[in-house]
Amino acid sequence: MAAKKAVILLSGGLDSTTTLYYAKAKGYDCYCLLFDYGQRHKKELKAAAKLAKLNKCEYTTVKILLPWSKSALTDTTVKIPANTRNIGKKIPATYVPARNTIFLSFAASYAESIGARKIFIGANALDYSGYPDCRPDYIKAYEKAVNLGTKSGVSGKKLKIETPLIKLTKAKIIRLGKKLGVPYHFTWSCYQGGKTPCGICESCLLRKKGFEDICR
Ligand SMILES: [Zn+2]
Repeated sequence: MAAKKAVILLSGGLDSTTTLYYAKAKGYDCYCLLFDYGQRHKKELKAAAKLAKLNKCEYTTVKILLPWSKSALTDTTVKIPANTRNIGKKIPATYVPARNTIFLSFAASYAESIGARKIFIGANALDYSGYPDCRPDYIKAYEKAVNLGTKSGVSGKKLKIETPLIKLTKAKIIRLGKKLGVPYHFTWSCYQGGKTPCGICESCLLRKKGFEDICR
């Protein structure tokens, strides 16, 4: 029997890569969806493509424009926050307006077209940056909306959005990933696109803390 199909939102970072390996371990035939949405660097996308190829997964890069976005991730004139004090307390400058809603909509369209019943997203509500579109309530509500608004959803072939990391700490995600054989050295988390990770942006700090915590 052919493997069940799943669409994986793959950014090339730690969380989405762990999610890809999780879906693979669950026996899914994974179709990766990558987004070029005008990020300030392409390192993450390159990492995502490499990881998809490494896993012999089909992957598609969707290029979208968000010219109105004033996020620090898409607008080089906005400074990327570089401290741990405010992580999770307020929505940071790296927030991209309605990003997961946009990504999930593309994923739902892709899934419906190839007959996949699952979308995997590495959203995380614990060691996260305070993004409202990473919360379980949002994911549930979006899943409901998409099933109301698609042919497959109204004909009984409901789509499910899987968030295996949603309640895990960074350390727990890394522990899970290590068990699944995730090559973390190929992933890219840094918001900056330098030769090596900057070590001071929120994403670098959360990643660093996760690796330190698993040693405790
Ligand atoms: Zn960084």
